[in-house]
Amino acid sequence: MISSVLPTYNRAPLQFTKGEGSWLTTADGRRLLDLGSGIAVNVLGHAHPALVEALTNQAQNLWHVSNLYDIPQQQALADKLVETSFADTVFFTNSGTEACELAIKMARKYWHDQGQPEKTDIITFEGAFHGRSSAAIAAVNTPKMVDGFGPLLPGFVQVPWADSEALKSAITETTGAIMIEPVQGEGGIRAVPDNCLKALRDLCDEKGILLILDEVQCGVGRTGKLFAHEWAGITPDIMMVAKGIGGGFPLGAVLATENAASGMVAGTHGSTYGGNPLGCAVGKAVLDIVAEPAFLEDVNAQAGLLRQKLEGLVASHPTIFESVRGSGLMLGLRCVVPAGEVVQAGYDQDVITVPAADNVARLLPALNITKEDINEAITRLDAAATQLETTAA
Ligand SMILES: *Cc1c(COP(=O)(O)O)cnc(C)c1O
Repeated sequence: MISSVLPTYNRAPLQFTKGEGSWLTTADGRRLLDLGSGIAVNVLGHAHPALVEALTNQAQNLWHVSNLYDIPQQQALADKLVETSFADTVFFTNSGTEACELAIKMARKYWHDQGQPEKTDIITFEGAFHGRSSAAIAAVNTPKMVDGFGPLLPGFVQVPWADSEALKSAITETTGAIMIEPVQGEGGIRAVPDNCLKALRDLCDEKGILLILDEVQCGVGRTGKLFAHEWAGITPDIMMVAKGIGGGFPLGAVLATENAASGMVAGTHGSTYGGNPLGCAVGKAVLDIVAEPAFLEDVNAQAGLLRQKLEGLVASHPTIFESVRGSGLMLGLRCVVPAGEVVQAGYDQDVITVPAADNVARLLPALNITKEDINEAITRLDAAATQLETTAA
Protein backbone atom coordinates (compact mmCIF):
# COMPACT_ATOMS: atom_id res chain seq x y z
CA MET A 1 0.00 0.00 0.00
CA ILE A 2 1.27 3.45 -0.83
CA SER A 3 2.40 5.53 2.13
CA SER A 4 0.26 8.51 3.05
CA VAL A 5 3.20 10.74 2.08
CA LEU A 6 3.89 10.30 -1.65
CA PRO A 7 7.02 8.12 -1.66
CA THR A 8 9.25 10.30 -3.87
CA TYR A 9 12.09 10.63 -1.36
CA ASN A 10 14.72 8.25 -0.01
CA ARG A 11 14.70 9.35 3.60
CA ALA A 12 17.26 8.63 6.32
CA PRO A 13 15.57 7.34 9.48
CA LEU A 14 16.21 10.53 11.46
CA GLN A 15 13.54 12.69 13.06
CA PHE A 16 14.47 16.05 14.48
CA THR A 17 12.46 17.90 17.06
CA LYS A 18 14.63 20.93 17.73
CA GLY A 19 17.33 23.01 16.09
CA GLU A 20 19.71 25.51 17.67
CA GLY A 21 22.53 27.13 15.72
CA SER A 22 24.44 24.37 13.93
CA TRP A 23 22.87 21.58 16.02
CA LEU A 24 19.82 19.38 15.54
CA THR A 25 18.25 17.28 18.31
CA THR A 26 16.17 14.13 17.85
CA ALA A 27 13.19 13.12 20.01
CA ASP A 28 15.41 10.73 22.03
CA GLY A 29 17.92 13.48 22.78
CA ARG A 30 20.62 12.66 20.22
CA ARG A 31 22.46 15.79 19.04
CA LEU A 32 23.78 15.97 15.49
CA LEU A 33 26.09 18.62 14.05
CA ASP A 34 24.32 19.97 10.98
CA LEU A 35 26.63 20.58 8.00
CA GLY A 36 23.74 20.38 5.56
CA SER A 37 21.53 23.28 6.69
CA GLY A 38 18.47 21.81 4.99
CA ILE A 39 20.50 21.96 1.75
CA ALA A 40 21.98 25.46 2.08
CA VAL A 41 18.78 26.94 3.51
CA ASN A 42 19.44 27.69 7.18
CA VAL A 43 22.15 30.27 6.47
CA LEU A 44 22.00 31.58 10.05
CA GLY A 45 21.60 28.17 11.62
CA HIS A 46 18.47 27.01 13.40
CA ALA A 47 16.26 29.31 15.47
CA HIS A 48 18.43 32.41 15.05
CA PRO A 49 17.01 35.00 17.51
CA ALA A 50 16.77 37.80 14.91
CA LEU A 51 14.79 35.54 12.54
CA VAL A 52 12.53 34.24 15.30
CA GLU A 53 11.86 37.83 16.27
CA ALA A 54 11.14 38.96 12.70
CA LEU A 55 8.83 35.99 12.14
CA THR A 56 6.89 36.28 15.39
CA ASN A 57 6.54 40.06 15.18
CA GLN A 58 5.15 39.80 11.68
CA ALA A 59 2.96 36.80 12.58
CA GLN A 60 1.27 38.80 15.33
CA ASN A 61 0.33 41.54 12.88
CA LEU A 62 -0.30 40.23 9.37
CA TRP A 63 0.67 36.97 7.68
CA HIS A 64 -0.62 37.29 4.20
CA VAL A 65 -2.21 39.74 1.83
CA SER A 66 -2.52 39.39 -1.90
CA ASN A 67 -0.28 41.06 -4.42
CA LEU A 68 -3.39 43.00 -5.36
CA TYR A 69 -2.19 45.41 -2.66
CA ASP A 70 1.01 47.21 -1.71
CA ILE A 71 3.17 45.09 0.59
CA PRO A 72 5.70 47.29 2.44
CA GLN A 73 7.71 44.28 3.68
CA GLN A 74 8.13 43.19 0.05
CA GLN A 75 9.14 46.70 -0.99
CA ALA A 76 11.74 46.81 1.80
CA LEU A 77 13.29 43.48 0.83
CA ALA A 78 13.30 44.39 -2.87
CA ASP A 79 14.97 47.73 -2.05
CA LYS A 80 17.62 45.93 -0.01
CA LEU A 81 18.32 43.44 -2.82
CA VAL A 82 18.53 46.21 -5.41
CA GLU A 83 20.85 48.19 -3.16
CA THR A 84 23.18 45.21 -2.55
CA SER A 85 23.25 43.64 -6.03
CA PHE A 86 23.42 44.30 -9.78
CA ALA A 87 19.63 44.20 -10.00
CA ASP A 88 17.20 47.00 -10.74
CA THR A 89 14.08 45.00 -9.97
CA VAL A 90 12.97 41.88 -8.05
CA PHE A 91 10.05 39.43 -8.24
CA PHE A 92 9.39 37.18 -5.22
CA THR A 93 8.54 33.49 -5.45
CA ASN A 94 8.17 30.64 -2.94
CA SER A 95 10.95 28.43 -4.26
CA GLY A 96 13.91 28.08 -6.57
CA THR A 97 11.86 26.21 -9.15
CA GLU A 98 9.40 29.07 -9.41
CA ALA A 99 12.29 31.49 -9.78
CA CYS A 100 13.55 29.31 -12.65
CA GLU A 101 10.13 29.45 -14.31
CA LEU A 102 10.12 33.24 -14.27
CA ALA A 103 13.73 33.51 -15.43
CA ILE A 104 12.83 31.45 -18.50
CA LYS A 105 9.64 33.40 -19.18
CA MET A 106 11.45 36.71 -18.72
CA ALA A 107 14.16 35.79 -21.23
CA ARG A 108 11.64 34.70 -23.84
CA LYS A 109 9.45 37.75 -23.34
CA TYR A 110 12.48 39.99 -23.66
CA TRP A 111 13.34 38.72 -27.12
CA HIS A 112 9.69 38.66 -28.14
CA ASP A 113 9.39 42.34 -27.29
CA GLN A 114 12.72 43.12 -28.99
CA GLY A 115 11.19 41.92 -32.24
CA GLN A 116 13.32 38.75 -32.27
CA PRO A 117 10.76 36.14 -31.21
CA GLU A 118 12.88 33.35 -32.74
CA LYS A 119 15.39 33.68 -29.84
CA THR A 120 13.57 31.19 -27.62
CA ASP A 121 16.42 28.78 -26.89
CA ILE A 122 18.27 28.61 -23.60
CA ILE A 123 21.62 26.85 -23.29
CA THR A 124 22.22 24.87 -20.08
CA PHE A 125 25.03 22.66 -18.80
CA GLU A 126 25.57 19.00 -18.07
CA GLY A 127 25.26 18.30 -14.35
CA ALA A 128 23.07 21.37 -13.77
CA PHE A 129 20.02 21.48 -11.54
CA HIS A 130 17.34 24.13 -11.83
CA GLY A 131 14.36 22.51 -10.14
CA ARG A 132 11.62 19.94 -10.76
CA SER A 133 8.92 21.73 -12.73
CA SER A 134 8.21 20.71 -16.31
CA ALA A 135 10.34 23.60 -17.57
CA ALA A 136 13.19 23.02 -15.10
CA ILE A 137 13.51 19.32 -15.93
CA ALA A 138 13.39 20.07 -19.66
CA ALA A 139 16.16 22.60 -19.11
CA VAL A 140 18.50 19.92 -17.76
CA ASN A 141 17.05 16.88 -19.55
CA THR A 142 18.80 14.07 -17.66
CA PRO A 143 17.07 10.68 -18.04
CA LYS A 144 16.60 10.32 -14.26
CA MET A 145 14.57 13.52 -14.12
CA VAL A 146 12.65 13.46 -17.41
CA ASP A 147 11.86 9.77 -18.12
CA GLY A 148 8.10 9.35 -18.22
CA PHE A 149 7.32 13.05 -17.99
CA GLY A 150 7.29 14.01 -21.65
CA PRO A 151 6.50 15.69 -23.91
CA LEU A 152 9.08 18.13 -22.63
CA LEU A 153 8.98 21.89 -23.04
CA PRO A 154 11.09 22.61 -26.12
CA GLY A 155 13.75 25.29 -26.38
CA PHE A 156 16.65 23.99 -24.28
CA VAL A 157 20.09 22.96 -25.48
CA GLN A 158 22.47 21.14 -23.14
CA VAL A 159 26.23 21.41 -23.51
CA PRO A 160 29.03 19.53 -21.68
CA TRP A 161 30.57 21.04 -18.55
CA ALA A 162 33.74 23.11 -19.02
CA ASP A 163 33.82 22.81 -22.82
CA SER A 164 33.93 26.33 -24.24
CA GLU A 165 34.17 25.09 -27.84
CA ALA A 166 31.00 23.03 -27.47
CA LEU A 167 29.32 26.05 -25.93
CA LYS A 168 30.34 28.35 -28.78
CA SER A 169 29.17 25.93 -31.44
CA ALA A 170 25.82 25.50 -29.66
CA ILE A 171 25.03 29.20 -30.10
CA THR A 172 22.75 29.89 -33.06
CA GLU A 173 20.32 32.54 -34.31
CA THR A 174 17.67 31.11 -31.95
CA THR A 175 19.79 31.32 -28.78
CA GLY A 176 18.22 33.79 -26.35
CA ALA A 177 19.97 33.00 -23.09
CA ILE A 178 22.59 30.95 -21.28
CA MET A 179 21.63 29.65 -17.83
CA ILE A 180 24.30 28.44 -15.41
CA GLU A 181 25.02 27.92 -11.71
CA PRO A 182 28.28 29.73 -10.77
CA VAL A 183 28.85 26.77 -8.44
CA GLN A 184 26.91 23.61 -9.28
CA GLY A 185 25.27 22.24 -6.15
CA GLU A 186 23.43 19.00 -6.95
CA GLY A 187 26.02 18.39 -9.71
CA GLY A 188 28.71 17.88 -7.07
CA ILE A 189 30.02 21.29 -5.94
CA ARG A 190 31.63 22.20 -9.24
CA ALA A 191 32.63 25.86 -9.39
CA VAL A 192 32.94 27.73 -12.66
CA PRO A 193 36.41 29.33 -12.52
CA ASP A 194 36.28 33.14 -12.36
CA ASN A 195 37.99 33.55 -15.73
CA CYS A 196 35.44 31.22 -17.36
CA LEU A 197 32.54 33.19 -15.89
CA LYS A 198 34.15 36.36 -17.26
CA ALA A 199 34.56 34.72 -20.66
CA LEU A 200 30.92 33.65 -20.54
CA ARG A 201 29.80 37.21 -19.84
CA ASP A 202 31.93 38.45 -22.76
CA LEU A 203 30.51 35.78 -25.04
CA CYS A 204 26.95 36.78 -24.09
CA ASP A 205 27.74 40.44 -24.76
CA GLU A 206 29.38 39.69 -28.09
CA LYS A 207 26.53 37.48 -29.31
CA GLY A 208 23.70 39.48 -27.75
CA ILE A 209 22.56 36.74 -25.38
CA LEU A 210 21.09 37.11 -21.89
CA LEU A 211 23.09 35.59 -19.03
CA ILE A 212 20.91 33.91 -16.41
CA LEU A 213 22.69 32.86 -13.22
CA ASP A 214 21.10 30.27 -10.95
CA GLU A 215 22.32 31.26 -7.48
CA VAL A 216 19.59 29.32 -5.69
CA GLN A 217 22.21 27.27 -3.84
CA CYS A 218 25.41 29.33 -4.12
CA GLY A 219 23.90 32.76 -3.40
CA VAL A 220 23.14 34.67 -0.18
CA GLY A 221 26.63 34.64 1.33
CA ARG A 222 27.33 30.94 0.75
CA THR A 223 30.61 31.51 -1.13
CA GLY A 224 31.77 34.41 1.05
CA LYS A 225 30.36 37.12 -1.23
CA LEU A 226 26.69 38.03 -1.07
CA PHE A 227 26.36 36.49 -4.55
CA ALA A 228 28.85 34.04 -6.05
CA HIS A 229 29.30 35.86 -9.36
CA GLU A 230 30.83 38.82 -7.52
CA TRP A 231 34.10 36.83 -7.25
CA ALA A 232 34.41 37.01 -11.04
CA GLY A 233 33.64 40.73 -11.18
CA ILE A 234 30.75 40.21 -13.59
CA THR A 235 27.01 40.73 -13.42
CA PRO A 236 24.19 38.68 -14.94
CA ASP A 237 21.09 39.98 -16.68
CA ILE A 238 18.78 37.74 -14.67
CA MET A 239 19.48 35.82 -11.45
CA MET A 240 17.51 33.20 -9.53
CA VAL A 241 17.79 33.11 -5.74
CA ALA A 242 16.00 30.96 -3.14
CA LYS A 243 17.19 28.52 -0.42
CA GLY A 244 19.26 30.78 1.86
CA ILE A 245 17.28 33.96 1.28
CA GLY A 246 14.48 32.89 3.63
CA GLY A 247 16.80 31.32 6.21
CA GLY A 248 14.26 28.45 6.45
CA PHE A 249 11.11 30.27 5.40
CA PRO A 250 10.11 29.25 1.84
CA LEU A 251 11.15 32.25 -0.24
CA GLY A 252 12.73 32.79 -3.63
CA ALA A 253 13.35 35.68 -5.97
CA VAL A 254 14.27 36.64 -9.49
CA LEU A 255 16.58 39.63 -9.72
CA ALA A 256 17.00 41.39 -13.05
CA THR A 257 18.30 44.44 -14.80
CA GLU A 258 15.76 46.96 -16.02
CA ASN A 259 16.57 45.99 -19.60
CA ALA A 260 16.13 42.22 -19.12
CA ALA A 261 12.89 42.74 -17.19
CA SER A 262 11.44 45.22 -19.68
CA GLY A 263 8.84 42.79 -21.04
CA MET A 264 7.38 41.91 -17.66
CA VAL A 265 4.57 44.46 -17.44
CA ALA A 266 1.37 44.22 -15.36
CA GLY A 267 -0.49 40.98 -15.98
CA THR A 268 2.44 39.02 -17.47
CA HIS A 269 3.31 37.07 -14.30
CA GLY A 270 2.09 36.57 -10.75
CA SER A 271 2.00 34.47 -7.59
CA THR A 272 -0.50 34.15 -4.75
CA TYR A 273 2.02 33.69 -1.96
CA GLY A 274 5.20 35.05 -3.50
CA GLY A 275 6.45 38.04 -1.52
CA ASN A 276 3.85 37.90 1.25
CA PRO A 277 4.49 39.91 4.45
CA LEU A 278 5.58 36.92 6.55
CA GLY A 279 8.15 35.64 4.06
CA CYS A 280 9.54 39.06 3.24
CA ALA A 281 9.84 40.09 6.90
CA VAL A 282 12.04 37.04 7.48
CA GLY A 283 13.97 37.53 4.22
CA LYS A 284 14.74 41.11 5.19
CA ALA A 285 16.04 39.98 8.59
CA VAL A 286 18.29 37.42 6.86
CA LEU A 287 19.69 39.94 4.41
CA ASP A 288 20.21 42.63 7.06
CA ILE A 289 22.69 40.24 8.67
CA VAL A 290 24.21 38.37 5.72
CA ALA A 291 24.79 41.41 3.48
CA GLU A 292 26.95 43.13 6.14
CA PRO A 293 30.61 43.22 4.99
CA ALA A 294 31.79 42.17 8.48
CA PHE A 295 29.54 39.10 8.39
CA LEU A 296 30.89 38.09 4.98
CA GLU A 297 34.44 38.58 6.25
CA ASP A 298 33.66 36.10 9.01
CA VAL A 299 32.22 33.66 6.45
CA ASN A 300 35.51 33.83 4.55
CA ALA A 301 37.53 33.31 7.72
CA GLN A 302 35.47 30.26 8.74
CA ALA A 303 35.59 28.96 5.17
CA GLY A 304 39.38 29.21 5.13
CA LEU A 305 39.62 27.32 8.40
CA LEU A 306 37.18 24.59 7.34
CA ARG A 307 38.86 24.15 3.98
CA GLN A 308 42.32 23.88 5.52
CA LYS A 309 41.11 21.28 7.99
CA LEU A 310 39.31 19.34 5.28
CA GLU A 311 42.51 19.23 3.23
CA GLY A 312 44.15 17.66 6.26
CA LEU A 313 41.29 15.19 6.61
CA VAL A 314 41.64 14.14 2.98
CA ALA A 315 45.40 13.74 3.38
CA SER A 316 44.99 11.46 6.40
CA HIS A 317 42.27 9.29 4.79
CA PRO A 318 43.39 8.76 1.18
CA THR A 319 41.36 5.56 0.80
CA ILE A 320 38.15 7.39 1.75
CA PHE A 321 38.52 10.90 0.29
CA GLU A 322 40.03 12.08 -2.97
CA SER A 323 39.85 15.89 -2.76
CA VAL A 324 38.12 18.99 -1.44
CA ARG A 325 36.42 21.40 -3.81
CA GLY A 326 34.03 24.31 -3.87
CA SER A 327 33.96 27.88 -2.70
CA GLY A 328 33.45 29.53 0.69
CA LEU A 329 31.15 27.45 2.87
CA MET A 330 29.90 25.50 -0.15
CA LEU A 331 32.35 22.62 -0.04
CA GLY A 332 32.45 19.11 -1.41
CA LEU A 333 34.45 16.07 -0.37
CA ARG A 334 35.03 14.01 -3.50
CA CYS A 335 35.06 10.45 -2.19
CA VAL A 336 36.94 7.30 -3.12
CA VAL A 337 34.34 5.06 -1.49
CA PRO A 338 30.69 5.71 -2.45
CA ALA A 339 29.71 9.17 -1.11
CA GLY A 340 26.51 7.67 0.26
CA GLU A 341 28.60 5.52 2.62
CA VAL A 342 30.45 8.62 3.84
CA VAL A 343 27.16 10.39 4.53
CA GLN A 344 25.88 7.29 6.37
CA ALA A 345 29.05 6.96 8.46
CA GLY A 346 28.61 10.66 9.25
CA TYR A 347 25.14 9.91 10.65
CA ASP A 348 26.70 7.17 12.78
CA GLN A 349 29.10 9.80 14.17
CA ASP A 350 26.32 12.39 14.59
CA VAL A 351 27.39 14.74 11.80
CA ILE A 352 25.16 15.60 8.85
CA THR A 353 26.47 16.02 5.29
CA VAL A 354 24.52 15.90 2.03
CA PRO A 355 25.22 13.63 -0.94
CA ALA A 356 25.59 15.14 -4.43
CA ALA A 357 26.38 13.83 -7.91
CA ASP A 358 29.94 12.97 -8.99
CA ASN A 359 30.49 11.00 -5.76
CA VAL A 360 30.62 14.06 -3.54
CA ALA A 361 29.56 14.57 0.07
CA ARG A 362 28.48 18.20 0.42
CA LEU A 363 29.23 20.48 3.35
CA LEU A 364 26.88 23.46 3.51
CA PRO A 365 27.10 24.58 7.13
CA ALA A 366 25.36 27.58 8.63
CA LEU A 367 27.28 30.68 7.56
CA ASN A 368 27.69 31.65 11.22
CA ILE A 369 29.15 28.29 12.26
CA THR A 370 31.65 28.77 15.10
CA LYS A 371 35.31 27.74 15.13
CA GLU A 372 34.48 25.23 17.90
CA ASP A 373 31.81 23.65 15.73
CA ILE A 374 34.20 23.50 12.77
CA ASN A 375 36.72 21.67 14.96
CA GLU A 376 33.96 19.34 16.16
CA ALA A 377 32.88 18.73 12.56
CA ILE A 378 36.40 17.65 11.63
CA THR A 379 36.67 15.37 14.67
CA ARG A 380 33.41 13.67 13.70
CA LEU A 381 34.22 13.40 9.98
CA ASP A 382 37.59 11.93 10.97
CA ALA A 383 35.79 9.35 13.11
CA ALA A 384 33.43 8.59 10.21
CA ALA A 385 36.39 8.02 7.88
CA THR A 386 38.12 5.82 10.46
CA GLN A 387 34.91 3.82 10.84
CA LEU A 388 34.81 3.24 7.07
CA GLU A 389 38.52 2.22 7.02
CA THR A 390 37.91 -0.22 9.85
CA THR A 391 34.91 -1.86 8.15
CA ALA A 392 36.87 -2.10 4.88
CA ALA A 393 39.88 -3.72 6.59
C1 LIG B 1 17.49 23.70 -5.02
C2 LIG B 1 17.78 24.30 -6.34
C3 LIG B 1 16.77 24.68 -7.23
C4 LIG B 1 15.31 24.40 -6.95
O1 LIG B 1 14.86 25.07 -5.82
P1 LIG B 1 13.54 24.56 -5.06
O2 LIG B 1 13.35 25.59 -3.98
O3 LIG B 1 13.81 23.19 -4.57
O4 LIG B 1 12.42 24.60 -6.03
C5 LIG B 1 17.12 25.32 -8.40
N1 LIG B 1 18.41 25.56 -8.70
C6 LIG B 1 19.41 25.21 -7.87
C7 LIG B 1 20.82 25.54 -8.24
C8 LIG B 1 19.14 24.55 -6.67
O5 LIG B 1 20.14 24.18 -5.87
